[in-house]
Amino acid sequence: MSTRPAGSTIKPLAIYAPAFENNLITWSSIMDDSPVKKVKDEKTGQERDYPKNYDSDLKGYQGPMLIIDALKVSKNTIPVRLSDLLTPKVSYDFVTKELGITTLTPASGSNGATLALGDGGFKLHELTAAFQIFGNGGYYTQPKMYTKVTDSEGKVILDATTRSKHQVMSSQTAYIMNKGLWSVVNDGGSGRAAKLANMETIGKTGTSNDRKDLLFMGATPYYVAGIRYGHDDNKLTIAKNLYSAHIPVWQKIMTEVHKGKNPAVFELNDDGVVEMAYCTESGGLAHSGCPKQGKGYYKATDIPAPCTIHPQL
Ligand SMILES: [Zn+2]
Repeated sequence: MSTRPAGSTIKPLAIYAPAFENNLITWSSIMDDSPVKKVKDEKTGQERDYPKNYDSDLKGYQGPMLIIDALKVSKNTIPVRLSDLLTPKVSYDFVTKELGITTLTPASGSNGATLALGDGGFKLHELTAAFQIFGNGGYYTQPKMYTKVTDSEGKVILDATTRSKHQVMSSQTAYIMNKGLWSVVNDGGSGRAAKLANMETIGKTGTSNDRKDLLFMGATPYYVAGIRYGHDDNKLTIAKNLYSAHIPVWQKIMTEVHKGKNPAVFELNDDGVVEMAYCTESGGLAHSGCPKQGKGYYKATDIPAPCTIHPQL
């Protein structure tokens, strides 16, 4: 029940999904991984670059990079830039009105650091429930602690077996986000230790910037689950050799939970989504002259222009 930072697990919910939904970015958009501004460091009083890339696999600043890579390695700079473009209010409204996040105050609705970087207070079960939208095509159902309660004679007292769900984003955005979070686990991203055998797995890592909280939110075609790893008293930072310790814990728990289930992959509605090759240097659609190409997922209504930095052969 405690409220703890969400770290980077907030980025898909508050930043990337709304940015795709509003067509601010595509899979291969390129944005700048560089400091957004200078801030005064609270401890030293010196000016420093903001934001730092805390739990990124790629240390420091990389300059222009693909959106999908920024998500995969959990950059902080690009979500802060996207938050400025979206406005924190759009992110705030989305997570509080559509995704059941109840612990944010309106003040945090104007605070880009809360919504882009996950500072401030979130409840683990609310964050976890919000992640369901990436595994089910964009529908939110309020989580319950029970499915059914009966009395000693079998009379139903509480019944949550049928609950209303509502669509919080287009199926196209949900499909593209599912593929992006797939990359985090399956394509060299920060969540690779979460991968389950014979069960498609997607997810996102998170670390609070004081290193007191480690999080992982993940989903399979059957379940969504979230884990927070840290000290009970919340006073100690986590030892360096344990920075990734929570992900294998998630993986082991979920392996048990899935015992006896048939192997499965996500089967999401792909209407209005196209898979196309892009140029990894320009982010434009690839042609015969582009030396390195990747596979991207795009809304059929929002496809990037062909690459112009390489001559067509
Ligand atoms: Zn090219």
